[in-house]
This record gives sequence, C-alpha cells and structure tokens, in this order.
Amino acid sequence: MSASETTAALLGRLERGETTSTALTESLLDRVAQHDESIGSFLTVNGETALETAAAIDAKRAAGERVGRLAGLPVALKDILCTKGEPTTCGSRMLEHFVPPYDAHVVERLRAEDAVLIGRTNMDEFAMDSSTENSAFQPTRNPWDTSRSPGGSSGGSAACVAAGFAPLSVGTDTGGSIRQPAAFCGVVGMKPTYGRVSRYGLVAFASSLDQIGPFAHDVHGAALLLEALAGPDERDATCIDRPVPEYTKSLDEPLAGLRVGIVPDHFGEGLDGEVDEAVREAINVYAEHGAKIVEIDLPHQKYSVAVYYLIAPSEASSNLARYDGVHYGRRAEEYTDLVDMYVASRSEAFGPEVKRRILLGTFALSEGYSDQYYNTALRVRRLIRRDFDAAFEKCDVILGPTTPTPAFGIGELVDDPLAMYLNDVYTIAANLAGLPAISLPCGFTKSGLPIGLHLQAPPFEEEGLLQAARTYERTTHWHERRTGLD
Ligand code: GLN
Repeated sequence: MSASETTAALLGRLERGETTSTALTESLLDRVAQHDESIGSFLTVNGETALETAAAIDAKRAAGERVGRLAGLPVALKDILCTKGEPTTCGSRMLEHFVPPYDAHVVERLRAEDAVLIGRTNMDEFAMDSSTENSAFQPTRNPWDTSRSPGGSSGGSAACVAAGFAPLSVGTDTGGSIRQPAAFCGVVGMKPTYGRVSRYGLVAFASSLDQIGPFAHDVHGAALLLEALAGPDERDATCIDRPVPEYTKSLDEPLAGLRVGIVPDHFGEGLDGEVDEAVREAINVYAEHGAKIVEIDLPHQKYSVAVYYLIAPSEASSNLARYDGVHYGRRAEEYTDLVDMYVASRSEAFGPEVKRRILLGTFALSEGYSDQYYNTALRVRRLIRRDFDAAFEKCDVILGPTTPTPAFGIGELVDDPLAMYLNDVYTIAANLAGLPAISLPCGFTKSGLPIGLHLQAPPFEEEGLLQAARTYERTTHWHERRTGLD
C-alpha cells in the first residue's frame, strides 16, 4: 500500500472493498514508527484508539450501514484542537498536562464523518511563529530536506501529509500558518473564510484572525476535508449559519471567463528568483487555459505585517491572560504569594516568543497608547479589506507567491524575529480581511524544495477558489511528486 495515495484513491479502494481502514491505519502507523523520528511531525500518536475506530468503521461498512464522508480515512490534528480525554498541549509547557473535558466542534464533525483520528501534530507554541522550531517539545523537520524547516505554525500537520503519515490533516491559520507550511512542504493547505469553520474548542491565539482549515496532497482532499469541517455552530458567535456547498462535486466544472488578478508589487524586492519564476509560469498556465489576467492594486497591503503585529499580539495578550496558574495550565511549585505565583507560573511555562507577543500586545493596548497603536491598526485593517473589495470587482481570484522564499534552514531565522515575521508578507492580509485563501504546489527549486502558489478569493467563495486551484492542478501535476522518504 502506498502511503502517499490521495484521498480520492484511498476512498475508492475502501469503498470497493480492496482495502480496509484497519489495514490502511496499520500501514500508516508502521510508517510513522519507522520515519517520524527523523521528522518529528507528531506529538502524540493514537495507535490504539485509531485502530479501534478503524475496526468499527470497517464493520459498519461491511454491514452495509451508511458511513460518513471521510469513512476510514486517517486524519491528524494540530495539537491546538481540544479533544476530549486527550492531552492538548498547544506546543507549550503551559498546557503540557491539560486534558480537555470536551471535543472541539471540528473534532465532533470529524468523528461524525467517520474519520480515524490518528494523532496530534507538532506546532509552534500557541501557534505563534512560522517554523515549528518554537514548540516546547521538539522541532519538526521538512520531509523534503530534513535540514530545513517545514514552516509553521502548523508545521507538524503539513509535514505529516508530505511524509505520507496521513492523507489528511487539520491546521490553523492566523497569519499564514496553514498556507506557509503547505508551500514549504509541497502540499495543499487552505484557510477558509473567517466564520466558515467554528472555532469552538480551538485554543485561542488571536480570535479575530484564527481559522481552522485542511491539508491534503491535492485540491480534492482539501475540498473533502473542508466539507467535513465547515458549517454552523452556535457555540462560536462568529461562525456563520450558511449552507456548506459540496465542494468536491463542482471541482472539475469548467471555469469559463475566470479573471485572475495579479498585484505587480508581489513580484518585487525580497522575492526569491526561483519562486518568482515558478509563479510567473503559473500565470502563463492560467492564461493558456483562457483565464483573463488583470493587474490590480492593493495599496494598503504593505501595512499588513505591521497591522497584524499589533492586532495579533494584542488579542494574544488578552487571550493568554487566562493562563494564571489557577484555572488552567501549569502552576509553579515554588512561590511566596498570589502575585508571585502568577509571575512564577507564567515565567516558567511560556517560551520566549509567546512572552514577546504578550509584551508587545499588552503595550499596544495600554492606556495612553491604544489609540496610537491598536486603534490605528484596526482602522488600517478596514482599509486593507476595502482594497480587496475593490479588487474583487475586477477579478475572481488573486494569484501570487505564498511565501517569499522556499523553506529556510532549521536555526536560520530563530534569532531574527523580524525576518521570521516577513515570511507572512503575502499571507497575512487574507486573515486581516477574513478571506479564503489556498496554497498549492507550483514547482520545485533546483535543489528540490517545493514552491507554493497562493490564490485568494472573496469571502465565502471557497467553491470558486477550489475550482480555480483545481484547474491549475489538473494541468500541471506538481502535486503528484512525493518526498524521497521511502
Ligand atoms: N507566523 C504568524 C505568527 O507568527 C502566523 C501564525 C499563525 O498563522 N498561527 O503569528
């Protein structure tokens, strides 16, 4: 059995009875046991429960009972999604021993669709950063070249699909944390519209930006997983009550008259030459297939990194205030009084990047400064959204590079936060504006590192976004390449 088969191929074989979920899960668990030591994509592997679920689904299928849309497919979860009875660490010492008493909405949805939850993937602490080196437990390595980072913060989820440990995985994206690792690991990763997927049970980083989304080898896999994840949930007030289209059904519909928007500024300074070339080639592919290429302008996008690094840390400073050593998380063993207990617990359990964000955010919100920083950032955020609204009058999708460079080396950027933050220069605006966006493989560097193509669409236009991505994928086949892990 090939561990790197697509979801469509695997589902077909499961449905025809050519394999079972038990056999598939066993072979993936073997693969993880053999290779994950060198990758580090999992924090926990749920071998026993995964096999129990797989056997139950096989029995249901054999009995001719109705099964869910992911029936028997192994899915890995970023360790930020609460799962009843299982440690959910968020990559932090703070939550090392936290066992949620309930399932996140998406975990409920996956169980209802008969997915096999195979394990929990590594991440940067509290989803802050872009390299998965900032996990309190272990770094994750890029399966295409283990001296490189898989990106982050959902690096474990991206790497585990790239390495063929699971055909599907779930990540979260606050400023690019699904799309940037997808680009670095040569897989498809999608951030849905803000409000498309419930955040109930997602450990909060920056609540006005966080979204949960899928990773897969191809667009079909991402569409299938999104169908399972999306949908209304009254426990998240920002989750919109709109029907979820069957994305997988319309993927191959011909896209007549597609208008692809290009921002000339995206091809300027700081963009790696090989990434530039691959993305320009992708524009040609769209043009050859009859798409109309239009130049658009997003005049305020240049402020998006600055705006994000005020808004995200501000929300983080507020969200992470709950980790006080009393209700949640770790409590220091030695302290003198209550205040000292707070200080000692937070000092020893948060890592340096989380502390940096809390300090930045607390400062940006502080009395006398909030107008200058936080409130100004909110105003510029509106301008960024308005630029997109105007651009989408002229085009259906906006195309560009996902990241300025291919995967950087492990250790290369850890001491340079600004360089690390600039990794998100193309992805952050979609979070600020709440748009759906996807990264898909569009080539490889001469040294064999994957390159990601970024497509963004208007709010709730996931269906068109996936169709546009599939149009490209159908004619290029970059997504069929696999790592040399075997
Ligand atoms: N890299 C960005 C950050 O460090 C985005 C993280 C994310 O999307 N979770 O905040």
